[in-house]
Amino acid sequence: MTELLYRADAYLKSTPAKVLAVNERGGIVLDRTVFYASAGGQPGDRGEVRFAGGECAIATTVYDNADNATIVHVAAEGSSHPAIGDSVEADLDWDLRYRHMRMHTALHLLCSLVKFPVTGGQIGAEEGRLDFDIEDASAVDKDKLTADLNALIAADHPVGERWITDEELEANPGLVRTMSVKPPMGSGKVRLVLIGENGAVDMQPCGGTHVRRTGEIGNVAVSKIEKKGKINRRIRVVFT
Ligand SMILES: [Zn+2]
Repeated sequence: MTELLYRADAYLKSTPAKVLAVNERGGIVLDRTVFYASAGGQPGDRGEVRFAGGECAIATTVYDNADNATIVHVAAEGSSHPAIGDSVEADLDWDLRYRHMRMHTALHLLCSLVKFPVTGGQIGAEEGRLDFDIEDASAVDKDKLTADLNALIAADHPVGERWITDEELEANPGLVRTMSVKPPMGSGKVRLVLIGENGAVDMQPCGGTHVRRTGEIGNVAVSKIEKKGKINRRIRVVFT
């Protein structure tokens, strides 16, 4: 099991760590990490792992299939690997991660404005998108959503968190907006992400990384609302 340092502080850019395992495909397991592993539509982090004998470029980061609690740093092809037991420095591609944090937080705001069930989503460094089940397409307007999103960003709302138990979440099913991505349950507690005072803007279970205040997102625009099925609408958001 890897200690997830980004859970406590999403702004950590690097950490010293120890190599616990190196698998046959070049996946490096550390005792602790600042690298976010691909989940919930947010891509795994890139960066490098530096050790006494050299450095290893990390192409992406994933959870180990076997236990979902161990994080695997996937070495780029041709990189040299540290050895088990090595002391290393794990260093994020921070520019990329920060864009993911900004876009991820922007999608929470989109979710708060579009009061329909979310059926999927993806976060990128340039663009993010959410899919909603919306029976009446006239319920969403590109220009209005862009203006409302930028107003929430400009208001510079605080982004916080609160931990609740699995039982509390089960007793409040309305908290779960995303039908396709089940909140990370099973450890006994679930993290709620709150935007605005006491979650007045948005409140939902989420294991991703977010900025501290909505003002950090910067200006965005809804670039497209696409029809993806009878009632499915895909709303795309870009940085401007
Ligand atoms: Zn989130």
